[in-house]
Amino acid sequence: MQKIELEIFSPVHQIKHPLLDEKGLKLFIKRDDLIHPLISGNKWRKLKYILAKAQSESKTHLVTFGGAYSNHLLATAAAAAKFGFQSTGIVRGEEVNNDTLFMCRLHGMRLLFIDRDSYRDKPALFQKYFGNDADAFFIDEGGASAEGAKGCSELVTELPQTYTHLFCACGTGTTAAGIINGIAAHQLPTKFHGIPVFKGGDFMRDEIAKYLIPHPSLSERTDSYHLHTDYHFGGYGKTTPQLIDFIKAFIASTGILIEPVYTGKMLYAIFDMARNNYFNPGDEILVIHSGGIWGLLGMKEKF
Ligand SMILES: *Cc1c(COP(=O)(O)O)cnc(C)c1O
Repeated sequence: MQKIELEIFSPVHQIKHPLLDEKGLKLFIKRDDLIHPLISGNKWRKLKYILAKAQSESKTHLVTFGGAYSNHLLATAAAAAKFGFQSTGIVRGEEVNNDTLFMCRLHGMRLLFIDRDSYRDKPALFQKYFGNDADAFFIDEGGASAEGAKGCSELVTELPQTYTHLFCACGTGTTAAGIINGIAAHQLPTKFHGIPVFKGGDFMRDEIAKYLIPHPSLSERTDSYHLHTDYHFGGYGKTTPQLIDFIKAFIASTGILIEPVYTGKMLYAIFDMARNNYFNPGDEILVIHSGGIWGLLGMKEKF
C-alpha cells in the first residue's frame, strides 16, 4: 500500500469576458480540475483524509456509493487503484453500462447494482454485503464526511490573494462546509457563496451545518455565507437549452471544460448575477472548478 499523497496542482487562472469588464469585475477560477484527470477536483480533497483513515485502520477494501454517472465513484475507483486498495461501487438502480462505469471497472472497481429503494439505507447495505469483511471500509455517497470537509478546507491555504467573493457548486455540501471552515479559521473577509444543484436547495443549510466547525467569526456573522437556490435548472442533472448554450460558449471562449451538473450551473449563476448588478465594481471573484468533466460524456445528446 502507498502513502496517501497526491500533489495538489491547482493554479488560479483569470477569466476574461466583456461583461466582466463592463461591470468592473475580475473573475478567477481555481483549477481543482487539474489535480488529476479522474481523481478530480473536490473529490480528491474529500477522499484524501478518508483514505488515510482507512489505511490507519488497516482497511484494504473501499466500499462506496453513487449513481451511474457519479464522479465520486470514478474518483474512488482511480484513487483505490493508485494507492493499492480494492474497491467496490454500489450503484443506484438497474444494471447499466456507460462511460463512467466503464472507467470504474477499468480501475478494478467491482460494481453492485442495487434497486432504488434498498439504495436509500447505505449503512444497511454495507452491513448486508460487507458486514463480515474485516477489510472493508465504508465511504458515504459523494465522500460526505468530516474528513472530506477537512480536506476541502485546505484549499483556502493555497489562495494567492484575498478575494471579495468565493463560489462553489453544492451537492452534499461537504466542500462548501470545508471552505467556509477554512475562511473562518484564516479570518478572511471573503464572502462564501454556494450554488445548490438541486431543486429546493435551502435544505443545503442543514447539510452544510453538519460539517461546520464552530468558530467565533462564524457565529458573530449571521450571514456568514450565502446560498443562491434559483440556479438548479429544474433539478439535479437537469438542463435547459439556455444552460447548454452558456456552457458551449464558455468552453469555446476560455478553453476550460465545464459540465452541466455542477460547474456549468455555478458559472451561469455568476454571469447572471453580474448582469443583474449583484456585485460591486472592483470586486474580485474566485470560483472553484470542482472537476467532474467526465460527466459531459453522459450528456452528449443534450449538446
Ligand atoms: C461532487 C461534485 C460537487 C459537489 O460537492 P459536494 O461536496 O458534494 O457539495 C461539485 N462539483 C463537482 C464537479 C462534483 O463532482
